[in-house]
Amino acid sequence: MSIKRQVLFSFLSSLTITFIISVFVLYAVFSRTTESRVIETYNLIYESYKKLLKREEEIIKFLPSIPENGKYVYFKVEDDKKGCLSNSYYRLAVSNTYYGLNKQFSESCYFVGVSVYEVLSALREFLSVDWIVYYQRDFISDVIPVNELDMFMKDKMVVSDKVIDRFSNNDMLALPIDIRGYSVYGGLTRRYILVEAPIVDNRGLSIGKIVLSKEISYIYKETYITLITLVIYSILIYLFASYLLFRVASNLIERVILLKNITLAIEKRDFSVLQKIEKLRDRWKDEVEELKQSVYSMASNLRDAFDELEIKNKELEKLAYYDPLTNLPNRRFFFDHANLVLENSKRYKIPMSILIIDLDHFKVINDTYGHEAGDIVLKSFADILRKNIRQSDLPARLGGEEFALLMPNTDLEQAKIVGERLRNELENSRIVYQGQEIRATVSGGIASYVDGVESIDELLRRSDEALYRAKEMGRNRIEVYEVRK
Ligand code: GH3
Ligand code: MG
Ligand code: MG
Repeated sequence: MSIKRQVLFSFLSSLTITFIISVFVLYAVFSRTTESRVIETYNLIYESYKKLLKREEEIIKFLPSIPENGKYVYFKVEDDKKGCLSNSYYRLAVSNTYYGLNKQFSESCYFVGVSVYEVLSALREFLSVDWIVYYQRDFISDVIPVNELDMFMKDKMVVSDKVIDRFSNNDMLALPIDIRGYSVYGGLTRRYILVEAPIVDNRGLSIGKIVLSKEISYIYKETYITLITLVIYSILIYLFASYLLFRVASNLIERVILLKNITLAIEKRDFSVLQKIEKLRDRWKDEVEELKQSVYSMASNLRDAFDELEIKNKELEKLAYYDPLTNLPNRRFFFDHANLVLENSKRYKIPMSILIIDLDHFKVINDTYGHEAGDIVLKSFADILRKNIRQSDLPARLGGEEFALLMPNTDLEQAKIVGERLRNELENSRIVYQGQEIRATVSGGIASYVDGVESIDELLRRSDEALYRAKEMGRNRIEVYEVRK
C-alpha cells in the first residue's frame, strides 16, 4: 500500500472513530440533561398542585365558622368514631368534586372543601398545565349513594374501567392517562409530561386520578438544537483539522514521491534530475528537505565520479590503442587493422604495401644529446609521417625507434615513392634541441601483397628483410623486398 493510501486510510478511520465516539458521548450527556429537566418539570407541576391544595387546606383548618355562600362548600357528615378528625381527602358529589377535610362546628361534624376544578384552573393559569379527572368505575358505588348514581353518571364518559369526569382540553382524551408517577408521551415534534395525582377518599383509598399534562417539547427542542449545533460545529472543526493535516501530509508525501522518482532516475544514471532538484526551492526546512539535500549531494558526487570514470576510460582506451609519446596508433592497433586490410586485398586482389622504418644510429643520438632529445626526434618523425601520407594509410609506432606504414591500395612502386619522400623529409628537416641542431635519418623496407602471402606477419617479415638490407647497404635508404621467382 502506498504512503498516500496509508495516510488517507489511518486518517479517515481515526476521524470516523473519534467522530462517532464524540456523537455518542454528546448524546449521552444530553440525554441525562434532558432527563433531569423532565424530572424538574415533574416536580414543579406536582409540587405546585400540592401547594395549591395545601393552601386551601390551611384556610379550611382555620375557618372560624361554617362558610356561607363562598368558595367553600360544606356537607354534614355522619360522625364517626374519630371524633370528626380526618386527613384531607376528595369528596365526590353529583355536580362537582371537592377537596377538603372534616371539621367540627358546634355539635356537628362537617366536610368543608373547595372545588377541585377551581384549583386545577388556577394551576392551568399559572403553569399552562392541562388536566383530566377520572375515577375507577368499581369504586363509584362505594362513594356515591345509590339514589344519586344516575345523576352522577349523567354527562360523564365511560371508557372501559374509567369514568371520565372533566378535562381541560380534548387532547387529553388522546393521551395514555393510565400512568403511575409520571411519564413522557409523544413523538419527535410534540412531547408531553403526564403527572399523576391520586384521588383519595375519606377511607384513604385511591378511587381515581387527576392526570396533569404539560407540553415539554421545548426541552427536547432545545436539547436537539444544542446537540445538532455541537455536531455541526465539531464536523466543521474536524473538516478544518483534516484539511490542515491533509495538506501537511500530502505535501510530505508529494515530496517523498519526488525523492523516490529522483533516486529511481539516478539509479538509471539519469542525472538530468539534478537540475530539477536545483530548481525546486523548498519552503519547508525539515527532515525531508535535509534528505533531499543529501540525495542531491550524493547524486552529484556520483555524477562527478561517473564523469571522471568516463574520462579515465577514454584515456585507457586511447592508451590501449595509441602510443602516448607520438600519439600514433600502436602495435596493437596496427595489427587489428592491418589484418582487415590484408583480408580485403586477398579477396578483391587489390594491392597493398607495408613500409617499416627504423631510425639510423638512434642509440648515438640518445647518447650524444640525451634521451629527451631522442624523444623529440621520435616526435618529429611522427609528425613527418602524419603529414606525408594519405587519409587511408595507417601509420604506427611499432616500438622503440621503429615505425610502420600500412598503405592499402598501393603497389610496390607507389610505396617506394612514399618511403623516399619520408626519408627525404627527415633528412632535410632541422630538429633543434637546446640550441643544438640534431640530424637524423631513417632506413626503410617495403613489402607488397602478392599471391601466396597469407598473413601480416609474413608481410612484416619481408619488410624487415628489406629494412635489414637497407641498413646493410649503408642506411638512409629505402629498400624493397624482391619476390624471388
Ligand atoms: P641502427 O641504425 O642499427 O638501427 O642503430 P640504432 O642505434 O638505431 O639501433 P639500436 O637498436 O642499437 O638502438 C635503438 C635505441 O633506441 C636504443 C634505445 O635506447 C633507443 N630507444 C628506444 N625507444 C626509445 C624511446 O622511446 N626514446 C628514446 N629517446 N630512445 C629510445
Ligand atoms: Mg631499431
Ligand atoms: Mg635504429
